[in-house]
Amino acid sequence: MASNCLFCRIAAGDIPSTTVYGDDDVYAFRDTNPAAPQHILIIPRKHIQSLADVEVEDAAMLGRLLLSARRIAEQEGFAQTGFRSVFNTGVDGGQTVGHMHLHLLAGRALHWPPG
Ligand code: 5GP
Ligand code: ZN
Repeated sequence: MASNCLFCRIAAGDIPSTTVYGDDDVYAFRDTNPAAPQHILIIPRKHIQSLADVEVEDAAMLGRLLLSARRIAEQEGFAQTGFRSVFNTGVDGGQTVGHMHLHLLAGRALHWPPG
């Protein structure tokens, strides 16, 4: 845990969040500034800056992150209607929080390409 990291502190429960799912490896919570009717962030409990920083040893964690997306989609009722899953990475990717997170967006038809 990086004590100066917002999402590490959220995963640890030091900063409140609305939990959607949690296990030993990942934590999922609702985005406070939702861009869709359903906007959930899934993060590894391990502090990793971004998708540009993952290593081979993170393969299992990455698999669990993606599997949790499917599980949450079923739990929240949008597995069939569809959803968008996005990793923003670095400055050009629009990443504003330096702890890797997977956005899950659902509940309306989403446009493509993104801006
Ligand atoms: P990024 O721009 O890095 O891809 O996404 C960061 C996301 O975190 C944004 O959608 C933003 O609304 C969300 N966010 C920022 N601070 C907080 C917070 O304190 N709590 C929660 N639940 N979401 C946050
Ligand atoms: Zn962190």
